[in-house]
Amino acid sequence: MGMNRSKEGREEKPVQDIKALSLQELIDVFKAWGESAFHARQVYAWIYKKKEFDFGRMSDLSQPLREKLAGAFVSGTLEVKEHLVSVDGTEKFLFGLQDRHLIEGVVIPAEGRITGCISTQAGCRFSCRFCASGLLGFQRNLKVSEMLDEVLLMSSRCRHKRLTHLVFMGSGEPLDNYDNLMKTIRVANSASALGIGARRITISTCGIIPGIAKLAREGLQVELSVSLHAPDDKTRSALMPVNRIYPVRELIACCRRYVQETKRQVTFEYVLIKGVNSDLQKAGQLSTILRGFDCKVNLIPVNPVPELGVQPPGKLEILLFKDALVKAGIQVTLRKPRGQDVTAACGQLRLRCAQKTRKAS
Ligand code: SF4
Repeated sequence: MGMNRSKEGREEKPVQDIKALSLQELIDVFKAWGESAFHARQVYAWIYKKKEFDFGRMSDLSQPLREKLAGAFVSGTLEVKEHLVSVDGTEKFLFGLQDRHLIEGVVIPAEGRITGCISTQAGCRFSCRFCASGLLGFQRNLKVSEMLDEVLLMSSRCRHKRLTHLVFMGSGEPLDNYDNLMKTIRVANSASALGIGARRITISTCGIIPGIAKLAREGLQVELSVSLHAPDDKTRSALMPVNRIYPVRELIACCRRYVQETKRQVTFEYVLIKGVNSDLQKAGQLSTILRGFDCKVNLIPVNPVPELGVQPPGKLEILLFKDALVKAGIQVTLRKPRGQDVTAACGQLRLRCAQKTRKAS
C-alpha cells in the first residue's frame, strides 16, 4: 500500500492499489462516489485492456474523476530492475517491490503459447534443495495488485506483447498465499480484465495438502501441477523439507481425491538431479506409486545452480528414466531446461542480485 504526500511533504492516509479491487468492488466505490458503473468499467478497461496505469491519461474520463482516482488510488507499484533475453527466447524479469524486496518473473515462448511465470511470494519458506528462491528465506506474501502488476508488466514489456498462459510458480509457494492467489486468478480470468481462460492458468505447488483439498472445492477449471521430484520419503524429504509435513503417500492420495472431485488431471513435476533421484530404481518406485492414476509426469533435467551444487544427469540416464515410465504406461513428457544463459532457474537472478548487493556494500 502506497502513501499519499501532501504538498508540504507530510505523509497522509495510505493509498490502495486499484488492482486490489475486483470490478464489482470498483463499481461499489464508484457508486459511493455518485459515479456510474459504466465509468468503473472504463477504468478497468484502461488498466487491463490498454495497459494504461496513469489515471491522468484516461482520456474518456472527466478531469474531476481522473483527479478523484489519483487521490484515492495508485496503480502499479512494481519496478522492472532487470530484463534479460535468452538465446532460446526465454525472457527473465527482476522486479523491485516498494519495500525493496525483489521477485522474479519469466516469459517462456514455446509451442504456440507465451507463458508468464508469476511469483506469489517474496522469498519462500520451503527451502527445496534445488531451488535458489529458498536460499534468501521468506519475506512476505505478494498482494493481489503486485501479482497482477507482474502479469501486466511482462505482457506489455516482453517481445511478444502478450501472455496467453499463466503459471504461478516463480518464487514462493502459491498455496501458501491462498486467498490472494484466488483473487488474482479470478481477475486474470475475468473477461472484463485479462480474459485468460482458466484452463490456461496453472497452479504449481510443492505439495501443500490442505491447499490442494481447498482448491478442489473452488470450482475453478485451472490446471494443477505438483512438484514430486522423488518417489520415496527419504529422498523427497532430503530434497524438499515440506515432505516431512506432507509425505509422499498422503500427497498422492490427496491428488487422487482431487482428480475424483474435480474430474481434472494432475501433472507431477519431476526434476532430474544427478546422483539423487534419476536412476532406474527411482523410476521403478515412481511407476509403482502412480499405478492406475490418470496423471501426467513432466521430467525436467535440473538447471545447474552452482550455489546449491546440483547438476543434471547425462542424456542416456535421462532417456532410460523416461523409457521406464513409458513402459509402465505413464504419460510422460521430457522438458528442456530453458533460459540457462539468463539464470532462469527459480530465484537465481534474485540471488545473484542479492549477492552483488552484498559484495558492493
Ligand atoms: S521450489 Fe517452490 S516451494 Fe520449493 S523453495 Fe523454490 S519456490 Fe519454494
